[in-house]
Amino acid sequence: MSDPVTDPNPASPPGYPYDAPLSQELFERAAAVTPGGVNSPVRAFRAVGGTPRFMVSGSGAYLTDADGRSYVDLVCSWGPMILGHAHPEVVAAVQQAVARGTSFGTPGEGEVALAEAMTARVAPLDQVRLVSSGTEATMSAIRLARGFTGRSKVVKFAGCYHGHVDALLVAAGSGVATFGLPDTPGVTGAQAGDTLVLPYNDIEAVRAAFAAHPGEIACVITEASPGNMGVVPPRDGFNAAVRQLCADDGALYVSDEVMTGFRVSAGGWYGLDGVEPDLMTFGKVMGGGFPAAAFGGRADVMAQLAPAGPVYQAGTLSGNPVATAAGLAQLRLLDAAAYEKVDAVSREIRGLVGEALTKEGVAHRVQNAGSMFSVFFTENEVRDFDDARSQESFRYTAFFHSMLAQGVYLPPSAFESWFVSTAHDEQAVARIAAALPAAARAAAEARA
Ligand code: PLP
Repeated sequence: MSDPVTDPNPASPPGYPYDAPLSQELFERAAAVTPGGVNSPVRAFRAVGGTPRFMVSGSGAYLTDADGRSYVDLVCSWGPMILGHAHPEVVAAVQQAVARGTSFGTPGEGEVALAEAMTARVAPLDQVRLVSSGTEATMSAIRLARGFTGRSKVVKFAGCYHGHVDALLVAAGSGVATFGLPDTPGVTGAQAGDTLVLPYNDIEAVRAAFAAHPGEIACVITEASPGNMGVVPPRDGFNAAVRQLCADDGALYVSDEVMTGFRVSAGGWYGLDGVEPDLMTFGKVMGGGFPAAAFGGRADVMAQLAPAGPVYQAGTLSGNPVATAAGLAQLRLLDAAAYEKVDAVSREIRGLVGEALTKEGVAHRVQNAGSMFSVFFTENEVRDFDDARSQESFRYTAFFHSMLAQGVYLPPSAFESWFVSTAHDEQAVARIAAALPAAARAAAEARA
């Protein structure tokens, strides 16, 4: 438990109950008007049980819920908040943008500046098109890949999540993994029929798919380094080998950097492994906490996009001036020191988690991709979705609730990445460190 003397955001005043009556009340109101009470499934806590916390404010590394309890936030809005919540310079940029008007439906300078900032940081991006969500980005990238190649098949990997695009909601990770849905009603056989799903990190499976469908595959889409089945990085040479197989067959290599982009380095995962995609997708960090996302890549491919070319794509709020101001402010603040800071704090927290679990004799693996990381309750290396699903996720449930009770907010699912920010300072880490022994004990004592 945090120290109320030194901690400016005590997790819980003495005697404060672990239950969350005001969140519970809000959840009941929400359930009456919204399916399952949430606007994105993983928020409902179904994988871990209990009452989802309704947050009312965020500041730096902390979130505060409706009941007035504060939490060190290790979700960071699922990635975007890399500078912490309500960073003063991002807030100022947003306030200035809002005062000038919130949407014009015309081109504006902010979207040009954001596109310039992105293409300057990520070499394979000759051009980008801004959209409003990661789902829209991957959906549009696939349409463009099909339009450019004149082919229909798409290869994806089991456990990779690319948003709720019909054709890609096959063996997807994230919320779909959480719910154990192999598929979802509402996606027809025709919509998914051109999608080939392969085991992640298995280059022979990719080779075999190209051998079985020569000249038919429009693209291979992969998370640059997957974070939606928990963090499962590509094995050495995997991305480069997939890239080469695509090139040999005339298919496009589409790297989904919605999660990793501008988070694991200034150039995203590309900045770490240097494998050049034909198309890339972005979201999260580039929007500074607002709905902004993008896809982009080779100039000759992007030239096929309307109005320059015949492949249609559009959006009423695409390049929204408030979202682009927030994203641009955030990217400008992300210098080398910021990435060093998130890398260091991630390393420290990973070490503390590993230590606490080892001390209690709990089989586990902490895997990371840059500063993104997750904890698997298994002693084996996790290389693909089957490995991830073989973990003892009931231990995560106990671990999660113990951390929550002690004022640390973890992803409410064992199949998600944890995220840190530049605002995670010594005090925030101290609260995590203080909470870990009891959480590790809870994980050790958990029964399926
Ligand atoms: N691609 C990846 C790798 C993601 O992690 C996500 C969301 O988590 C998406 C695409 C979809 O993005 P959005 O939720 O903004 O639609």
